[in-house]
Amino acid sequence: VKTQGKGEIAVYDADFDQGRLRRLAIEAQIGKGLNRSEFEVFYQPVVDADTGRMVSVEALIRWPGRPEGALMPDQFIEIAEATGQIHPLGLFVLERACRDLAPLIDIKLSVNVSPAQFRDPAFERQVAHVLDQTRFPPARLQFEITEGYLLAHPERAIRAVEAFKATGMSVALDDFGTGFTSIHYLRSYGFSHIKIDKSLLVGLSPGSKATMLVTGAISLACGLDMRVIAEGVETETQAELLRAAGCHELQGYLFGRPMPIADLIALCREQFAT
Ligand code: C2E
Ligand code: CA
Ligand code: CA
Ligand code: CA
Repeated sequence: VKTQGKGEIAVYDADFDQGRLRRLAIEAQIGKGLNRSEFEVFYQPVVDADTGRMVSVEALIRWPGRPEGALMPDQFIEIAEATGQIHPLGLFVLERACRDLAPLIDIKLSVNVSPAQFRDPAFERQVAHVLDQTRFPPARLQFEITEGYLLAHPERAIRAVEAFKATGMSVALDDFGTGFTSIHYLRSYGFSHIKIDKSLLVGLSPGSKATMLVTGAISLACGLDMRVIAEGVETETQAELLRAAGCHELQGYLFGRPMPIADLIALCREQFAT
């Protein structure tokens, strides 16, 4: 904190209080929002890189219909993680998504799981309960976890990944390329997929450094027998380069935005009618 003049301190404190008040307000609203069923789940298609067919969807939480306007997950997930509200919120997403996707038998479902959930000893039991209640086949369910947790608790994380895999589920490493996952770690975890973060796709053009980096990441993952998904694919140029680099699955606005379940069902009808 810079403390050069009184004015600056006052400005800094005001900003700090603003941020804190906002967080407190959101924290209180998350609780109310859960009680009032304000949250929704949207689904974004993931397509096979070669055929272009939708093979799975990623469930993404949405909080529309608030008087102040919709909040995106980046604005409230972190707060929910800090307050513990991520536990009921995460379970809501899992249960809703399993119910929504159960009838779409050809589509797999991928759900984001926060480190705090993954760490929770009750989580495995809760997942089993949801799968049971919704009759969702574990083989169609995948969790996406980020590497932060893995680095902090490698042994526990490996055990949890193994436990979920034993039920037939798969686990993907999310946001690959944004952290410090070593090749050693990548090998020890039984990830079925890695998801290349969209930030790595910026500047993807023939011969660019970004392309070399992504190509390297893809061949590394392939060498370790993992499937590779690229997220945030917005242009045909990116898709072309990713295909050429051996990426298996693609996700991004080029193929479809996150959408409500009704739109996804319509899209599935179209796809499987052709
Ligand atoms: P993520 O897991 O990396 O999800 C991908 C994000 O990229 C999503 O943002 C998605 O809407 C966005 N995206 C997809 N394709 C494109 C594209 O072509 N261009 C651009 N610019 N963006 C694209 P979203 O939905 O705002 O979610 C942000 C983050 O919030 C997620 O990042 C994830 O970390 C977290 N999140 C979302 N839903 C959940 C949830 O149910 N549970 C937990 N724990 N986290 C969630
Ligand atoms: Ca994700
Ligand atoms: Ca990401
Ligand atoms: Ca993320």
